Amino acid sequence: MEIRNVVIIGAGTMGSLIAEVVAIHDFNVKLEDISEDVLKKSLERIRGGLTRSYNKGYIKENIDIIMSRITTTTNLEEAVKDADLVIEAVPEILDLKKQVFSEIEKYAPEHAIFASNTSSLSITELAKATKRPDKFIGMHFFNPPKVLRLLEIVWGEATSEETAKAVEDFAKKIDRVVVHVRKDVPGFIANRIFVTMSNECAWAVEMGEGTIEEIDSAVKYRMGLPMGLFELHDVLGDGSIDISYHVLEYFREKLGETYRPAPLFEKLFKAGHYGKKTGKGFYDWSEGKTNEVPLRAGAEFDLLRLIAPAVNEAAWLIEKEVATPEEIDLAMLHGLNYPRGLLRMADEIGIDKIVAKLNELHEKYKGERYKVNPVLQKMVEEGTLGRKTGEGFYKYGRGNYEFVILEKVGKIGVIKLNRPTRANALNMTFVKEIEDALEMFEEDKDVKVVIITGTGRNFCAGADVSMFASGRPELVTETSRTGHRLLRKIELYPKPVIAAINGPALGGGFELTLACDLRVMSENTFLALPELGLGITPGWGGTQRLAYFVGVGKLKEIIMLRKRIDAKTALDLGLVSEVYPADEFWEKALKFAENLTELPAIAVKYLKNVIAYGAMPTLESGCLIESEASGDIALTDEVAEGVQAFMYRRKPHFE
Ligand code: NAD
Repeated sequence: MEIRNVVIIGAGTMGSLIAEVVAIHDFNVKLEDISEDVLKKSLERIRGGLTRSYNKGYIKENIDIIMSRITTTTNLEEAVKDADLVIEAVPEILDLKKQVFSEIEKYAPEHAIFASNTSSLSITELAKATKRPDKFIGMHFFNPPKVLRLLEIVWGEATSEETAKAVEDFAKKIDRVVVHVRKDVPGFIANRIFVTMSNECAWAVEMGEGTIEEIDSAVKYRMGLPMGLFELHDVLGDGSIDISYHVLEYFREKLGETYRPAPLFEKLFKAGHYGKKTGKGFYDWSEGKTNEVPLRAGAEFDLLRLIAPAVNEAAWLIEKEVATPEEIDLAMLHGLNYPRGLLRMADEIGIDKIVAKLNELHEKYKGERYKVNPVLQKMVEEGTLGRKTGEGFYKYGRGNYEFVILEKVGKIGVIKLNRPTRANALNMTFVKEIEDALEMFEEDKDVKVVIITGTGRNFCAGADVSMFASGRPELVTETSRTGHRLLRKIELYPKPVIAAINGPALGGGFELTLACDLRVMSENTFLALPELGLGITPGWGGTQRLAYFVGVGKLKEIIMLRKRIDAKTALDLGLVSEVYPADEFWEKALKFAENLTELPAIAVKYLKNVIAYGAMPTLESGCLIESEASGDIALTDEVAEGVQAFMYRRKPHFE
């Protein structure tokens, strides 16, 4: 069955945002609500959202045309009479939702699929209000859906394959990242992990393991979530401590005592401190919150103490066949904005260490939730401990990458930087995967040229800033050296390497392109070394290699004025060989690379050596000094100010 006519019931926060996404993707959508006034406000809100997206260049279509696809009504019969899909987004009250569905049942055509956007209620239970439980399903969108592309497709007990398939096909057409939640367990996937991990943060405070600020700092800067979980609770929907409290109470009822709200949640909930909207939550907002979470406050906090119980929850979902590891990680990436999948993190840490931490917590605090799940136990017994053993939740080794996609187009080996939710920012695992991919193409006799490019909108936004929160300058020096090693490898690589700059290349991303032999660029993008704005210096050769291209004078201009180098300027400066229109970029980049596939291999290898050692004689020593400098300044107040300002999207003030 193909879905064409979409109806959304409830034009509040989610109803409006979902309607916007649906209309952007060329579907007609009817919005129904009980009040004309709400519908009017909803349309204004949608238009505002579309205008912002248009101004940022995310959508190209005329806004009036998109708006013309949305109609509104307060008449339920009129709304659903020719629906293919009805998405319900009324308040999270079981009886209200059931009543709404039984009304819809009266007027909707027989073939129509009914979906609920509920965050926590049972789909099986809601389906009982209708005569079509096979055509009843959960479509759990995330707020805001334009940014968080996850859609949890939640199966009730009677949901049919056909229904799930039709909804999945539709979801892909509206640009959703789909995961199937095969049993409608409390919290589904993303919220299950989010709420229990938030509760765990509160337990850690209770146990005296860290303060609110310390734990938020560790989660935000070291773990790399966009916000600390306390901070997030204060601002999500202007305060959501009440919502999480109710969800935890629901978990407690369904899953057992161990899921009860930690005392800190309970205390705040009972005092009516829900977050920003009430003037107080985990933080004081009475005068508008003025304090930011400091960069290094969480340097000493044991993050594994939060990650291990979260992995245990994920293992429960796998054990109960609710979802696969891949689906859980997609939910983390696209629903919770994690910097990488939770189970990828677990594999990196080592399942043995996760289990040891759970045992330690269980010994100390006795909570049932720390009891090691059989899935993890089995992994330890079988020795599938993660990356270090070649297999954990995922397989590792040649070709099995987390952040890199490899392709071959004729004689061209393509390395795609693939971390689109983080603008393809590099971490150490990512760097090692690129090195490994290069080695693979080096051994492959059919590959004559290598192209490095980015997936999504960006080429690469440089390196993660998490190392600056560690309080360990040697980690910063080491990160810089790891980058240098990769870049030097490219410089001395026996085959030509081309950077195909499809989108912004910033900091380490720009530095990576400079180590490539040749660069081509898409016309609407730019290069920049923005490091000084973060209180740091370029650390992957930017202070050295770029000088060989543009001279020391221009180099200082680019770094100190933090200039964005647009494509035309890059061409004029000799930084790129060719610039192509965005819509023809990839095709032309491949053509460009093809020209290099017939070069004499031995001569190319020597040529690259001669240039790397002969024409850039001070490069290696310069890079060594650069790494030392990166570590030397890693603990300054300037870095704390610069990185914090960056994370809070404000201008830094260097005193
Ligand atoms: P909301 O209060 O902003 O909007 C609910 C809308 O439903 C209101 O406009 C209200 O007038 C309308 N409504 C109430 N009774 C109705 C009826 N009988 N018929 C038609 N319309 C009716 O709520 P929301 O935040 O958009 O949440 C809606 C649903 O989405 C809930 O189930 C919630 O759990 C879920 N959800 C919310 C979020 C979020 O971040 N807000 C995220 C994911 C899922």
